[in-house]
Amino acid sequence: MKNKLNAIISQVISVSPNMKIFRVVPDGWELPDFKAGQFVALFLPASSARYVDATDEFKQLKPDKLIRRAYSVSSSSKNKEYLEFYISIVRSGALTPRLFNLNIGDKIGVGKKFTGMFTLDKVDKSKNIVLIATGTGVAPYISMLRSDAMNKNRKITVIHGASNSWDLGYRSELELLENISSNVKYIPTIIDAEKEKAKWNGERRFLQDIWKDKVFLKCLNYIPTPENTHIFLCGNPNMIENMSEILIYENFLIHKKNQNGQIHIEKF
Ligand SMILES: Cc1cc2nc3c(=O)[nH]c(=O)nc-3n(C[C@H](O)[C@H](O)[C@H](O)COP(=O)(O)OP(=O)(O)OC[C@H]3O[C@@H](n4cnc5c(N)ncnc54)[C@H](O)[C@@H]3O)c2cc1C
Repeated sequence: MKNKLNAIISQVISVSPNMKIFRVVPDGWELPDFKAGQFVALFLPASSARYVDATDEFKQLKPDKLIRRAYSVSSSSKNKEYLEFYISIVRSGALTPRLFNLNIGDKIGVGKKFTGMFTLDKVDKSKNIVLIATGTGVAPYISMLRSDAMNKNRKITVIHGASNSWDLGYRSELELLENISSNVKYIPTIIDAEKEKAKWNGERRFLQDIWKDKVFLKCLNYIPTPENTHIFLCGNPNMIENMSEILIYENFLIHKKNQNGQIHIEKF
């Protein structure tokens, strides 16, 4: 049955009050092959209880209505045991308040069609990559780095923007990767520094300003050009629009079905 709740929550990690990492194990079916960077639908019936911290939903839904939304996979495409997702709650939304109410052992629906062109498919292994995200937009990059993005011949930069330091999901994993790989640079940046509970010594600039500051030259000793680098942009549509403008001005091309470019985009 297409709409059966066909998977079980096996782990829930609270990253911050607004963000959780969910591990989901297929119940009686095999995960199909998918590519790192792709997304899949998660679904629950409207009869599922909403999280206590959620607000009223925008529109009352019939209890048997299935609520389906797209989520990028953050686990490795090589891992066939479970899927991982990094999700932020939209308190007035339909699905996320129900997702946030789930606990280990609860059932959830997972679509079986993994889709999306936001992958490393069209990126030569010799090209550098810059992975730029806001919030949970870092999820597809974690999948790429856990799958096949790592490669000694390329330089990899992850620039991750969030409101506060506690919203920087996967920070330890990315710091570890940076520490053990001379070709990886991880730059977390926060925009709401006044709310920090402890001193934040890191970046506070917008992603666009970090890009313009030529951090690549300082940190990885190269200048990104359309010839040597592909740039991935994921998350907030405003950030994607602003970054795309800057990159197009620097002669990078947007990657589309009918056009091989160096700017790869996934809007949440
Ligand atoms: C390719 C892709 C990948 C994604 N991956 C991720 C991911 O990895 N992690 C992640 O957290 N998110 C991801 N998203 C976003 C995700 O799909 C959902 O959009 C998000 O979780 C919100 O879902 P929701 O059902 O809780 O909110 P929704 O019900 O969709 O509501 C969103 C907002 O719109 C408002 N709203 C709803 N209906 C109306 C209306 N009729 N008129 C006006 N306002 C309305 C709500 O009040 C709420 O503020 C991805 C999206 C895409 C397209």
